[in-house]
Amino acid sequence: MAAKMTPQRREALVKGASKAKIKARVDLTACTGCEVCISACPVPTCIEPFGESIQTRGVFVNFDLCIGCMLCVKDCPWDTIAMIPTPKTEGKTTSLECWQDSSALIFDNIDLLDERVSTPLVASLKNTPSEGAS
Ligand code: SF4
Ligand code: SF4
Repeated sequence: MAAKMTPQRREALVKGASKAKIKARVDLTACTGCEVCISACPVPTCIEPFGESIQTRGVFVNFDLCIGCMLCVKDCPWDTIAMIPTPKTEGKTTSLECWQDSSALIFDNIDLLDERVSTPLVASLKNTPSEGAS
C-alpha cells in the first residue's frame, strides 16, 4: 500500500522534484481521462484527475511534484503527454497553465476543476464569462 501523504512527505517529494530538468505536460485536446498515467506515476498526487463525464475528463500534472521520470509518457495509450524543459514551467503551478489552447474542453468547463486548483490562469478563466453564455 502506498505511504500516506503528509505535509512532511510532500515537502521531501517537492525537494527531490526541484532537481528535475524536464516536467510532464498533458495535451488536453487529446487526453481521454483514462488515468493510466496516474497509475504509472511513482509520485503520489503528482497527476490529478478532473471532470465527471467522458466529454470533460482530463488530468493535470503538479509541476512541483513531477520528477521528470517519463513513466507517464511511456504508458499513456493516447500519446498525449510531452516532456518540456523545467525553465518553461517557471511561475506555473500545473500543466494546465502550459496548455492554453482554448479548443481544449477543460477551458470551456473550467468550473469542473477543484477549488484547490487555483492558479492565476484558472482564476482568470473562472472570472471570465464564456462566449455564448447567456
Ligand atoms: S494516460 Fe494519457 S489519455 Fe489517459 S489520462 Fe493520462 S494523459 Fe490522459
Ligand atoms: S514524468 Fe514521472 S513524475 Fe512526472 S508526471 Fe510523469 S510519471 Fe509522474
